[in-house]
Amino acid sequence: MTREQQHAEHKAWSYNMLAKTSRSFAGVIQALDSNLRDPMMVFYLTLRALDSVEDDPQYPLEKKIPELVHFYKRLDEETWNWTDVCGEKEAERDLLNNFHHVLAIYKSMDIKYQKVVSDITQRMGKGMSEFCTRMVVSVADWDLYCHYVAGLVGIGLSHLFAASGLEDPAYFNHAEEISNSCGLFLQKTNIIRDYLEDVDQERFFWPKGIWGLYTPAIANFKDHAYRTQALSCLNHLITNALQHAIDSLDYMLHIVEPSVFNFVAIPQVMAIGTLSECFNNHAVFTGVVKIARKTTMQIIGDLQGKRIVAVCDYYQQYAQVILAKISENDPSASKTTDTCQRIIQKVASIRNASAKL
Ligand code: CA
Repeated sequence: MTREQQHAEHKAWSYNMLAKTSRSFAGVIQALDSNLRDPMMVFYLTLRALDSVEDDPQYPLEKKIPELVHFYKRLDEETWNWTDVCGEKEAERDLLNNFHHVLAIYKSMDIKYQKVVSDITQRMGKGMSEFCTRMVVSVADWDLYCHYVAGLVGIGLSHLFAASGLEDPAYFNHAEEISNSCGLFLQKTNIIRDYLEDVDQERFFWPKGIWGLYTPAIANFKDHAYRTQALSCLNHLITNALQHAIDSLDYMLHIVEPSVFNFVAIPQVMAIGTLSECFNNHAVFTGVVKIARKTTMQIIGDLQGKRIVAVCDYYQQYAQVILAKISENDPSASKTTDTCQRIIQKVASIRNASAKL
């Protein structure tokens, strides 16, 4: 086999794995500008491999912690595959056991992309290892955990956008805080939405600093007797997550390249849409709350054509949906109202500024 054939084989395997591990990411990554496609695929699969180690409850901590901390060093090895059994799902075990395919693509990438993937893998692995032995308790813990598992993804994406030259390095290389905020917006939304699935599997990502205000035991929220407390807690968390929406709008304003814009904007709009569906909705405690497939397709179509204008329309629409659902007895009512109004004002200022251009 020639080197080109080998490279093609590693690449085909990796993209196939990408499709198996994330249908939603596979689509947006494939749609990216060709300069960013491979770096983004490698970034995703490397972090996915790390996450598979973190998530496996059967894997012993004394092996898991050093593996998370040192995982980034695997990227420097010539060829490496995991030999242990690790990963909850078949695809995750497959990814770890055949990681050499991803490594081959990693090594073929420009060093500027390799540095970003390695740096973020190192920082995330260290953070995950820290949370192996402690829980998310305070709101500050919640922000820190979300920083490790999602904020760092946002930071890495900004650095990859800058490295590609498709976006302005002067902004994207120095936007750690706002990139982190965009990652937190997505992660907090997922954590809020996945209450039932996580609690049923005895995984607790809601911060006690918030749920502890409403109940002595988080699993109580599944019980209809705790309906009022459950909704108050849910709305409190959603109000916290919504604080990131303004940063998310500011971040998207800086993006110029259309495929990068879609890559960022689709999940951000889906996040505020999901928060608006979940707000004051008891179904979060009894089942799965999701945006309808038809709405998702419509969001994707609108963003392609109208970009920031479409983002503004959706943010305004979802902020208004939430405003209409606020009950005056809700302990977070005034904070939620204020946050939604600030989002609507921000949207208005973006529209004014773009009308003047
Ligand atoms: Ca995880």
